Amino acid sequence: MNKINEIFGSNVFSDAVMKERLPKATYKALKKTIERGTSLAPDVADVVASAMKDWAVEKGATHFTHWFQPMTGITAEKHDSFINPTSDGKVILEFSGKELIKGEPDASSFPNGGLRATFEARGYTAWDCTSPAFIKDDSLCIPTAFCSYNGEALDKKTPLLRSMEALDKQALRVLKALGNTTTKKVITTVGPEQEYFLIDKKMYDARKDLILTGRTLFGAKPSKGQELEDHYFGTLKQRISDFMKELDEELWKLGILAKTKHNEVAPAQHELAPIFSTTNISTDHNQLTMEIMKKVAAKHDLYCLLHEKPFAGVNGSGKHNNWSMGTDDGMNLLEPGNSPHENQQFLLFLCAVVKAVDEYPDLLRVSAANAGNDHRLGANEAPPAIISIFLGDQLEDVLEQIEKGPATSSKSSSELTIGVNTLPPLPKDATDRNRTSPFAFTGNKFEFRMVPSSASIAGCNFVLNTIVAETLSEIADKLEKATDVNAEIQVILTDIVKNHKRVIFNGNGYSDEWVVEAERRGLPNIKSTVEAAKAMISEKNQAVLEKHGVLTKVEAESRYEITLENYNKIINIEALTTLEMAKRQIMPAVIQYTTSLAESINTIKATGVSVDVSVQSELLTEVSSLLSSLNKNVALLEKVVEKADNFDGDIFDLGMIYRYEVFEQMNTLREYADKLETIVDEDFWPIPTYGDMLFNI
Ligand code: ADP
Ligand code: MG
Repeated sequence: MNKINEIFGSNVFSDAVMKERLPKATYKALKKTIERGTSLAPDVADVVASAMKDWAVEKGATHFTHWFQPMTGITAEKHDSFINPTSDGKVILEFSGKELIKGEPDASSFPNGGLRATFEARGYTAWDCTSPAFIKDDSLCIPTAFCSYNGEALDKKTPLLRSMEALDKQALRVLKALGNTTTKKVITTVGPEQEYFLIDKKMYDARKDLILTGRTLFGAKPSKGQELEDHYFGTLKQRISDFMKELDEELWKLGILAKTKHNEVAPAQHELAPIFSTTNISTDHNQLTMEIMKKVAAKHDLYCLLHEKPFAGVNGSGKHNNWSMGTDDGMNLLEPGNSPHENQQFLLFLCAVVKAVDEYPDLLRVSAANAGNDHRLGANEAPPAIISIFLGDQLEDVLEQIEKGPATSSKSSSELTIGVNTLPPLPKDATDRNRTSPFAFTGNKFEFRMVPSSASIAGCNFVLNTIVAETLSEIADKLEKATDVNAEIQVILTDIVKNHKRVIFNGNGYSDEWVVEAERRGLPNIKSTVEAAKAMISEKNQAVLEKHGVLTKVEAESRYEITLENYNKIINIEALTTLEMAKRQIMPAVIQYTTSLAESINTIKATGVSVDVSVQSELLTEVSSLLSSLNKNVALLEKVVEKADNFDGDIFDLGMIYRYEVFEQMNTLREYADKLETIVDEDFWPIPTYGDMLFNI
């Protein structure tokens, strides 16, 4: 392998490259734009573009593309070569500031939730210079935001950038009110842990459901699942290890801080965690990570499944969104220090998050909603659909003290004794972990664990940034008016603890009792994407998004439409694939098997020898009866699919049909097919089984 520090960032037009290649004045102007958001003069853009092109061409690039993140959740790119004809029949390579700053993809072919009609096709991509350009597959990729002719956001990135500015503004107000005069900028930081499955490419190719829907629509539980708990952190198989090595290298070339890799809980499941960076870059990097995972997997004859629930009955995949707020002068605003009870600034920022989460749980819930994640949230392996916060003993104790008056002590951390003299004593964390909480404080950051593995993290982060910006703005309003700031801080903290402690829960979030207790506390338990989508059209949520300039009412409504439209389409595709596989693969295979059983019975009987054929006969009866039930359920599924197809009412009502009729019927149908799989001769079974896919690598 090449030395890490030689390959790291080698395909990135990084700060170091800019410094080296741009004239001093240009570099300075660009840095000002990146750091302070000032607009970039056209002549500066021309110089930057030209330097970028020279650098890219030296690295073998022939094309450039505006790289953007439409509402499909994946990235989009359209490549233009650098060539420009000259009068002597040759070409020169050019790239102008205008081309760098602005692109014009057709907006009508991307999900827009009614924001555009097809005849108004114009859309724009605008260079986001806060995320560095990079080279991928011989194309210079320019990270961009994507909006409509009227400036409405058509992508994941625009609201994210807007929300980062909102949080910056409000957090600075709070810091200033606390007497801080040195901090110039507050940024949100994110480290997303990415879970994924790897299976053999041949298995993938043999499963229509994986190809068309990303998950298995059929499949009986294998005789071995994850019950031995032998996969988590297990030794990496050679093929997986080779994949991970190459993945790391490819990510490092793109300047992605890939740090941790390990096997996850489910067989064939793995995780990659990068070192955190600013939310914007982290989001871009996570999109790239998912893309590169798929590409590298293909090189190893593997397929990378990013779906939230590729296999029923084994753990699904998520993304843990580790989130915090940092300052340009090196503070982490969620760092409690050794005595959090005395750390007023920390307590204010902590309580701002607590209040935000309690007041806008439905916005957070929708930010983690997609059809795939509906299999996880509320199922007992993943965080429940109820949003609560885990703070840990130490902070919970501090907040309890605050409720009654100023806090006077912090439970201290101690040393851990292992009982073996040769092992060094370990400093113990102040708090144990809680793996069942959807929103857990983990030392100096919050970990939002509900995020879908396949989704862009832009969604949950723009929501988090916005709702925390809102509570910070309320805090700033009070502090700015206060004559005695210290006294006011106490009032604010006590108020927040009193009114929002219901959202704090340190117990087992996976237990049935919690569901009952949460209901008693009045915490919402939003079951599916369809119901979750409503959060985008609630007046309160639209008001907060609009107030902080993150989404207008119209933009929020378009996202409601897109969420539902996407959900309905996905369930429809899943239902059609279920029908196709049941009718054209599973039922014919089962019929062949019953025929072979019948032939066997006849053949034996024809010998005239008196032999007991009751085993074959009983099997034939059982298989035939299951086949008949399967067939009935195929008819029932066809009926509800048709009902949904012909429905021309409201999109929400259609969503409810897909969720509670089509989806449910798919599950019922599947039960018969899965039962058949366990008794039909494996030579007849037409598709790879869970055992084949999960253990044959
Ligand atoms: P675990 O699996 O125990 O939850 P990991 O070490 O795998 O933890 O992941 C923790 C993630 O949190 C990493 O991506 C790390 O960079 C990130 N992280 C650490 N500090 C911060 C911070 N201040 N802001 C955002 N993310 C952070
Ligand atoms: Mg984690």
